[in-house]
Amino acid sequence: MFIFPKKSILLLTFFISIWGAEAQHINYSLIPKKDTINIYQEMLNDHSDDLMENHPADDIYNNMWTTDHVNPYKIPIDKMPDSIRIDCSHFVVPVPGPITSEFGPRRYRFHYGTDLRLKVGDSVRSAFSGKIRIIDYEARGYGHYIVIRHDNGLETVYGHLSEVLVTMNQNVKAGQLIAWGGNTGHSTGPHLHFEMRYIGNAINPSHIIDFNTGLVHSKNYLLTKKSSFYYQHEVKAVAAVKYYVVRKHDVLGKVAARNGTSVKALCKLNGIKMKTKLKPGQRLRIR
Ligand SMILES: [Zn+2]
Repeated sequence: MFIFPKKSILLLTFFISIWGAEAQHINYSLIPKKDTINIYQEMLNDHSDDLMENHPADDIYNNMWTTDHVNPYKIPIDKMPDSIRIDCSHFVVPVPGPITSEFGPRRYRFHYGTDLRLKVGDSVRSAFSGKIRIIDYEARGYGHYIVIRHDNGLETVYGHLSEVLVTMNQNVKAGQLIAWGGNTGHSTGPHLHFEMRYIGNAINPSHIIDFNTGLVHSKNYLLTKKSSFYYQHEVKAVAAVKYYVVRKHDVLGKVAARNGTSVKALCKLNGIKMKTKLKPGQRLRIR
């Protein structure tokens, strides 16, 4: 449904009242002209949409709207709602896929999204209706990316784009073309990195979407602290793992001493032998 912005309603009311005044032959000289002109000018000059219009799901986000950081909210999982129903009935799959990499732990970091195959220049669409919160570029991460806040309370992230086709604070509809897919940032081939978050905390998109059909599993997704954030121990496990990048002239004994471990432990962790020669740039797992 199209909702008139409050500003347009105010302007409309303003003009109707002038028209009404003319129609009723009200002596216009009684109205302080300067003030009305000032009010009208103020309305026209007011670009602070933040004050006039609400952002999607403002109640859930406590009126917080920032244009940087994918997760500026920093809500710990134990402070998340125990259970909440999210309306996913108007979902449109951003790209047809298929999945090339799932949400979950990776060797060096946790992967907070689902990777979907595409060709550079393929259409990327908004998953739900909402408003563009972030358009940014991260050379070592998302590349060109977009974050959208949706009316249903979810936020979605679209990464590695070749070209963004929307503007900041723009309202978008479910299925609206928002970008051309690409291979920018930390990416080893064209794909869409797609995240779904609720107050900053990532949800496995495959819990909500069946990427084989491009449809949602259910019109309502029941977010629960236990089932939606099941992966917390995996995040901790990935974070606990530490690597060391071998430098020139490094030997196992030196690496072990420098990192407070033993050669034996290093060999076991990395599946290597005591006599194995280290190569500069090689990653050794320390913990
Ligand atoms: Zn990814």
